Order: sequence, then C-alpha cells, then structure tokens
Amino acid sequence: MEKDNICIDCSRHIDKVARTLKLDQTDIDILTVPRRMMVFSFPVKLDSGNVQYFTGYRVQFNDARGPTKGGLRFHPELNLEEVKRLSFLMTLKCAVANLPYGGAKGGVVINPHEFSRKELESVSRAFMRQLAEFIGPQRDIPAPDVNTNPEIMGWMLDEYEKIIGKKCPAVITGKPIKLGGSEGREFSTSYGGAYVLDNIIKGLSMDREKTTVAVQGFGNVGMHIARILDEWGYKVVAVSDSKGGIFNEKGLNIKEVMLHKNKTGGVAGFKGSKGVSNEALLESKVDVLIPSAMENAIHKNNAGKIKAKIILEMANGPVTTEADDILLKKKIRIVPDILANAGGVIVSYFEWVQNLKNERWSEEEVLKKLREKMEQAVTELSKVCYNYNCNMRESLYISAIKKVLDAERKRKV
Ligand code: NAD
Repeated sequence: MEKDNICIDCSRHIDKVARTLKLDQTDIDILTVPRRMMVFSFPVKLDSGNVQYFTGYRVQFNDARGPTKGGLRFHPELNLEEVKRLSFLMTLKCAVANLPYGGAKGGVVINPHEFSRKELESVSRAFMRQLAEFIGPQRDIPAPDVNTNPEIMGWMLDEYEKIIGKKCPAVITGKPIKLGGSEGREFSTSYGGAYVLDNIIKGLSMDREKTTVAVQGFGNVGMHIARILDEWGYKVVAVSDSKGGIFNEKGLNIKEVMLHKNKTGGVAGFKGSKGVSNEALLESKVDVLIPSAMENAIHKNNAGKIKAKIILEMANGPVTTEADDILLKKKIRIVPDILANAGGVIVSYFEWVQNLKNERWSEEEVLKKLREKMEQAVTELSKVCYNYNCNMRESLYISAIKKVLDAERKRKV
C-alpha cells in the first residue's frame, strides 16, 4: 500500500482494538486507508476583481454501511491528513448511532473571517462545482461543520441543483428549514448529549437536582446543553466562552446568561456570578464536566487536576490520548465524542429521510426519535462494555469497527 494513502492517525485510534479483536492486515487496511480522497484547486473572483485559487478536500473514508456522510468545514489550517482522520471518526460515529451511512469529511482551506459574504458564497458555489459529480443522496451527503452553516449549505444545494437540472434536497443536510432542513437540527447535538448524560446519571442513581455541571464553550453546542440541563433541573454552576468564564455554586440561570451574552457578546460579567478562568473551570469540583469548545482542551498537563466524576465530550476530541490514560487511572468516566455528540448526525439523517419521503416532521417528533436512537446506542454500549470488560471509548470503537468490518466482509467477492 502506498504510504501516502494511509491515514496515519487512524492507526493510533485502532491500536488497542486491533489487539482485542485480533484484526488481520486486510482489516487494518480497511480501517486506515480511505476509499477515496479528493484534493481540488479552484479559482474564485474576489470583490476587488482579483482571482484567488483555493484548495478544497473531500475524503470518503468507507461506504460499506451506506452512502458516506460528514461535514464540510472552512478553516485556514485544514489539511488532507486531518480530513482523513475526521472522515474515519465519522465512519465510526455513524456506526455507533446505527445510521445506514459510511463516513466522510471535507472542506476548504480558508479563513472565512477575512472574506465578505458575497465572496464566501462564490467560494461555496465554486467548491460545489468541483464536488458535484462525486456526491449524491445515495452516494455522499455533506453537512455543515466548523465555520459553515445552514446559509452556506443552502448556496451549495442551489449550485448542485443547477448542475444536475432538478431538485435534490437530500444531497445535503443542515440546510435552512425553508429549503428542506429539519426542525430541531440547531440544538440536536446538545439534546443528544443531554439524553446520554441523563441516562448515565439515572443509571448511577444520582439526582438531577444535586448534580453539578460545568460547561466549557458557550457556542451552539455548549449554550444549548447548558440550557437543556438547567431546564431539566441540573445545577449548572459554571460556563465559559473564549472571553472568560462565570461561576455560581448555587447554579446559574442559563436563560439569563444567554440574554447577557446576547447583549454583551460574552458570558463574563453576568450579575451574581464570580469570574473564573477557563483553566479553573476545567479543574472545578463538579460532578459533570462538559468540554464543548475545541480539541485537546484536556491534556497531559491538566488531566491530573480534573475533579469531575464524569466528562461528557461534546466537542470533537477534547481529551488527548495521554490525558485519557491519566483520567481513566483516576476512575473518571469519559463519555466519548463519537457517542456524546452524535445527535447532530442523527438529526441530519432524519433530515435526509424526510427529504427522500417528502415529509415534514415536527420538532417534538424529531426529538422523540432522537431520544430513542441515543438510548439505543447507550444500551448497546453497556452490553459491549460488559462483554469485553472495557471502558466506554474502547467499547464504542470495538462495536463500531465490528459493524464496519462485518459490512465489508458481506460485500467481498
Ligand atoms: P461554536 O463556534 O458555536 O462555539 C464554540 C464556543 O467555544 C464559543 O462559545 C467560543 O467562544 C468557545 N471557545 C473557544 N475557545 C475557547 C476556550 N479556549 N475556552 C472556552 N471557550 C472557548 O461551535 P459549536 O458548533 O458549538 O461546536 C463546538 C464543538 O462541538 C466543536 O468541537 C465541534 O466540532 C463540536 N461539534 C459540534 C456539532 C454541532 O452540531 N454544532 C456537532 C458535533 C460536534
């Protein structure tokens, strides 16, 4: 196998599981070599009249379980190796959530803050002109990711439909509701994580009212999960964003914090709260810590100071491998990202189903189905943890990898 084809980081993820499942070299190739990797270069005319060339990627990692699914991000540091790794994780996430999908990821190397709205629309449409022949509702279905949003998905959908000459809403998810997006998509990731956490708290016979929570990151995911848990009676004592954090041991009124952030642009300075740094928030004495900001927030230098009993990984990859080992030794339960934040891709799947069937589901119906899917995944996880005597991360990897390999074997000639 050509070295360039291999996803170097994927091997790191499957090392332990490969030993447990006694995987052979063919299995390892399936799990470390993406099926299809695309690198595009395309010109876009800027507002100044100058033309700039952009690089775009799409990696379709594995499609044994169904069409590939995964987001498109706009980021200045995006590179092929990172896209390979993220597409591998999407393959596992879809398997964990029992969705009939493989995994993909992609995006454009761009700092969106340096371009006008008109230029971003031109970049989105130009990228779709490159991608169009390789995607489709039964082939590969993109979605929003870091720095992309429903508006961008709307532009891309419109460009795709112009190219193929007919309507095709199921080719992309996370669209505006008026273009066939699903009710509930905006806070689906947060509800999904809240359902998983609630299940675990009940399983441990802990009371919602006595369970203290700290949330790092008050963006789409962090803000909504803090609000949902507050509404359900949990005591959310600390939240933070990139400008700083706040703490109140009696619990914060999250709806009020949201209004404060709307007015001032940050959570800091909320009345009746004490200021807290992001480092201190991560190390605070709470039952549940929810990192919802960025990758590698918990690393080998702060893992030893974490006092939470449960970590719910709402961000992607917030705990480094070294930190993972330290936290496990401290008997901290870590609910891994591929389960905790799977609510987003589950509701994306619901959006795709609604588009294919020409149906419209209410928010209530979407959330009910989401809860069922998340609970099914937690039940399945408990069985694998028990059967293999493994922690949650290893168990999820075992279960997902078995599903992908089973599907591959059924297809082999
Ligand atoms: P977002 O941009 O809306 O919010 C990120 C938040 O983190 C912001 O409040 C920002 O101020 C804060 N932040 C940034 N740096 C910080 C720091 N050093 N300390 C504290 N806060 C900091 O992004 P989002 O959509 O909420 O996504 C958050 C994470 O969840 C990302 O890792 C993303 O990949 C993951 N995720 C999101 C979704 C989704 O549906 N949006 C789905 C799956 C995974």
